[in-house]
Amino acid sequence: MLKALLASTSTLFGEQYLEYLIPTLTNFYPQNPKILFVPFARPAGISYETYTAKFADAVEVIGASVTGLHQCNSHLDFSSFDGVFTGGGNTFLLVDTLYKKGFMEPLKNAVTAGLPYAGCSAGANLGGMSMATTNDMPIILPKDLRTLGLIQANLNPHYLDPIPGNKHNGETREQRIKEFFLTGDLMYKYPVIGLREGNWLEISDKNIWTRGLYQTRIFLNEEQIIEIPTDTEIQEYLK
Ligand code: ASP
Repeated sequence: MLKALLASTSTLFGEQYLEYLIPTLTNFYPQNPKILFVPFARPAGISYETYTAKFADAVEVIGASVTGLHQCNSHLDFSSFDGVFTGGGNTFLLVDTLYKKGFMEPLKNAVTAGLPYAGCSAGANLGGMSMATTNDMPIILPKDLRTLGLIQANLNPHYLDPIPGNKHNGETREQRIKEFFLTGDLMYKYPVIGLREGNWLEISDKNIWTRGLYQTRIFLNEEQIIEIPTDTEIQEYLK
């Protein structure tokens, strides 16, 4: 049974890394879990080792032991782990590295077969059908933008509403996501879920729940945009 958490961010303003998610992660993984950490998004160029150690430090409170995916090869036995966690950073780098190292397919197979998957930000993008609606810059070009496809949608983490009175003239997030629907590339064209900071999706088999502090914004297409309250099951909108 598919089990996943796709979260907008790892760190809320003024909090420690993963602090707000720890209660959720405690119930998500089994007791004293062995977690496979995916460090490939490397925020600000942090090394795989340092990033894995940072994650291990944060989840020590739930009794987790952590292995970095960079220490493994593509023949690794996913069934020796109780769950996966993908850290945030640059989504292009994350997806490119997963493809180059041959991990994308086996990871997808393991997660769809029931290995619990959690990811923040770039790690949340990875759970969607494609990474086409990331906020990141294309610092490297992956061979494919398609990702794990755990839900029939793309994600936009750190979703930002326009700030009234702000004199900044760049596109709003809403404009950028509407542009996404304009191209003919059906390969990537799924509803886009805008996850505001502090929100996440909880996926349990066919059910997808909105969780967190705020409403979740779903772009069904360039015209139909809906606001969904927290703790709502949204599968019906993604068919
Ligand atoms: N760069 C983001 C992250 O923190 C991902 C995104 O905004 O699309 O992982």
